[in-house]
This record gives sequence, structure tokens and C-alpha cells, in this order.
Amino acid sequence: MDTFGQLIDIVGKDRVSDSQEELFIYSRDPGAQPPRQVDYVVMPKTVEEVRKIVLLANREKIPITPLGGGFTLSALVVPNRGGMVLDMKLMDRIIEVNEINRYALIEPGVSQAALQSHLKKHHPNLQHSTPEAPPTVTVVGNALIQGHGHISPRYGINSDMINGMEVVLPTGEVCKIGSCSVSPSWFTRGPLPDLPGLFIGWYGTTGIVTKLSMKLYPKPEYRDVLAFSTDDVDLIPEVIFKVTQLDLTEDFFLISQEKPDWMNHVFFIVIISGHFEEELELKKSIFKKLFREFKGEERVKLVKDLHPALRKRFLDVPPLAALAADFRKGGGFEYTGAILPIDKVPEAWKKGIEISHKHGMICSYVHQVLLGHSVMFGFNYSFNRADEKDIEKTRKALEESNQLTLDLGGMIWKGEVGAQRLTMEKMDPNTAQLIQKIKRLLDPNGIMNPGNWEIDTGGR
Ligand SMILES: Cc1cc2nc3c(=O)[nH]c(=O)nc-3n(C[C@H](O)[C@H](O)[C@H](O)COP(=O)(O)OP(=O)(O)OC[C@H]3O[C@@H](n4cnc5c(N)ncnc54)[C@H](O)[C@@H]3O)c2cc1C
Repeated sequence: MDTFGQLIDIVGKDRVSDSQEELFIYSRDPGAQPPRQVDYVVMPKTVEEVRKIVLLANREKIPITPLGGGFTLSALVVPNRGGMVLDMKLMDRIIEVNEINRYALIEPGVSQAALQSHLKKHHPNLQHSTPEAPPTVTVVGNALIQGHGHISPRYGINSDMINGMEVVLPTGEVCKIGSCSVSPSWFTRGPLPDLPGLFIGWYGTTGIVTKLSMKLYPKPEYRDVLAFSTDDVDLIPEVIFKVTQLDLTEDFFLISQEKPDWMNHVFFIVIISGHFEEELELKKSIFKKLFREFKGEERVKLVKDLHPALRKRFLDVPPLAALAADFRKGGGFEYTGAILPIDKVPEAWKKGIEISHKHGMICSYVHQVLLGHSVMFGFNYSFNRADEKDIEKTRKALEESNQLTLDLGGMIWKGEVGAQRLTMEKMDPNTAQLIQKIKRLLDPNGIMNPGNWEIDTGGR
């Protein structure tokens, strides 16, 4: 039987396709990378189906690319060497929410919006860390790419919130990772050798996650936003240091964009929350006092009377920080996520503006401060999807932003294949080789999302 027939045998004819019309959407993502060939799309519903598909792929040496929401914008879910896209959206059960131990056990197709509304309805005192991405993106896809959400400045990046997982290994074994390998409870990932690291940040090249336990956090009843602005970019590290030193924010991000003119400043957006009104008021007064110290020198100003529409956008969960994604009026939006040391932000800011202008773009930035140890620095570019030259300019701007990130000693986050290559070329050679060794050990036939995290090791 041919491959297509075997796939039908596993999932039934309604959940597999090789028709060009249906594959079209899987051959590209919403970012600026060129489309690539896909041979099949398969939508499993059970772990057993995933296991059988993996065994088939090994027999026939067919690449598998796992897909959640497909919104990294760096084409991580578009196959580099053809084969099948494994679309996980039909595995979308919220299996358990454990209130006392504060975790949710979910399948990989559960979207951010689905988990958010489930918690709102059934567990209103709990929340999960929600990224500013479209609501259809998956919780699992986000955690596996080391994403961040609206409480990351307080609790850490989303991959740190993983308690455990079930994974179908590239050779077909179903493996439990974390406390669930020992106990019926998915409440912690240790104390054990930290195996989740074999699957986090690997872009689906080491296994297919079929269940994941995410930590949940208390949801405070009261929230408010304070906004401060400055034109002194060199002040940013000091402000970040002083704000995070207080350890009182729920979310803390910076935004700036050249248009409209009133946005052409650096805005510090501080989200504070509390379980009591008095707690909120106290926190607010502490922040105002802190910023008055800067204001004493007229360097940082409180934005009085923040427009109600903006207040709402910032207080939404997730907040809508990227205010003007569509400068080019063509629907295209891309950003390089750079994880930067805080002291490098001013330099990145100034050089990022140069990159934007060189390519005839309007500059816009959003940065999230991650626990006061680093910043997710977003170089944002909007482009017209119907204009091939505009797309090419965007690709060039992304490449230059990636190079700048590495030159500043930062890390490229969720990088496309070219960016991964840049990273590995700069990496300690023994580390690059260790990555290749682990990959070969787990995936001897090289079927899992090939092309990612690969480097020519020149026989080293
Ligand atoms: C406007 C906008 C704003 C954004 N804001 C944020 C933000 O604030 N924070 C943030 O973190 N991100 C943000 N993003 C980036 C991205 O959309 C999110 O991180 C998103 O949650 C990624 O999830 P996904 O389901 O789209 O993952 P996908 O793109 O589907 O997958 C990501 C990677 O994980 C792999 N993968 C997916 N599922 C599995 C599985 N079950 N097993 C193994 N591997 C798997 C894929 O192969 C791929 O390599 C934003 C994107 C946009 C467009």
C-alpha cells in the first residue's frame, strides 16, 4: 500500500489530505519566509494514532513537521524537506485542572483562548501565562518555543512553567516526563534529571508532545496600569533595574513607534495587580513615588489621563501592545524576537532604528521585561503581502536584526532556519556537536522537522 493509503488506514480518509488546495495553507505561514513544499497533512486524534504515524514515517523515511497554531512567523511549521505536516489541532482536550496543585493538563491542540475561557468559567481564581499572539495559537507550541505571556515578568518564561509532558519519541515509544512518570499527579518536573529540556526549544525535532502540564497562577481581582514616558533611551536599563527591584509588577513592557507622532517616545507600561483594593493603591503610590525620583530631573514623566481605549488595550489579557502592526496596509507583520541583556537595550534601540530606515520602514518596538534579568526585544516590521519587493526588504531587515542581536551578545528567539544557522555558527563547537549527537540519538532516521538546528559539523 502507498503512504497515503497507510495514512488513511491510521486516521481515516477525512483526517488526511494530499490535495494541493488543502496543502496550500500548510506550505506557508503568516511571516515573510517563502513557501515550501508539503506532501500530506494529517490530523491525529489520539496518542496511538500519533505513534502509528511515527512508525510509518520511520519505515518510509518521511519527514514529520508538528504544527500547533503555526504562528511563530519564522516558518518553523513549514517543512524544509517535504513530507507530512502533523496538525495537532484535533487533540484539544483540557484533561484536568488541578486547583490545589495549580496546574492544567492539556493536549497539544488546546488554544490559548480555549484554556483562558475554560479557566474563566470553571476556575476564576486561576490564570495561565497568555502571550500576545492570536488567540488560536496553542499553549503547547508556545511553551515549547520558550515563549512568554502576560505574567512572565512576574513568574518567568512559559517553558519554565512546564510541570511535565507525554512525548511520542521519533522512534515511536510513548514517554512520560516529570512527576507523571512516577506518580498519578502531574504537579512537578523534578526532582529528577531535567528531561523536558530534550523537547523545549528544539522546534519539534526531537519528539511530538501529546500531553503537557502547565502551571497555573493566582488571578488577582484588582488590576491597573501606569504609563511613564521618556525620550532618553540611555535611561532604559536604569528604569528597568529600579522597577524590577521593587518586585511589584504583574507585567512590565516598553513600547515605542515612530507613527503617530505622539507615540514617538519610550513608554514604560507597568501593570500592577492585587487581591485587595488597598494593596493595589499602595503599589500604585509606590510606583508613582519611584518615577517622581526620575521626574525630579524631568527625564521620566507620568502619562496623566491615559486614554480609556489605551487603558483597556493595556489591561486586556493578553495586552495589545503592538499598536500599529499594519503600517504598510498589506496585512503582513513580522518581528525578530531578540532576548537581550538589559544593558544592551539602548544600543539595540538605536541600531534597530537604523535598520528600519535603511529599508524604508517605520520603526516600532515592543519589549517585555522578563523577570528583570533579560528583555524580549521585538524589532517589528510590517509589510505588504501583495508586494514581493516589500517582502524581500522585510527578510533583509530580519536578517540584519538577527545579526545585530548576536553582535550585541543576545540570543535570537524562535529564529527561522537561517537564524538558527547564524546562532550555531557562533556557538561553542562542542555544544553544536552535542546538539547534533542528541538529535541523532533520539531521531536516528532524521524524520523530525529536518533542517532545523542542523549545521554542517564538517565531520567534527
Ligand atoms: C501578533 C503576534 C504577537 C505575538 N506575541 C507573542 C507573545 O507575546 N509571546 C510569545 O511567546 N509569542 C508571541 N508570538 C509568537 C507566536 O505566535 C506564539 O509564541 C505562539 O504561541 C506559538 O504557538 P503556535 O501554536 O503558533 O506554535 P507553532 O508555530 O505551531 O509551533 C511552534 C514550534 O513548536 C513545534 N510544535 C508545535 N506543537 C508541537 C507538539 N505538539 N510537539 C512537538 N513540537 C511541536 C512546531 O513544529 C514549531 O517548531 C506572537 C505572534 C504574533 C503573530
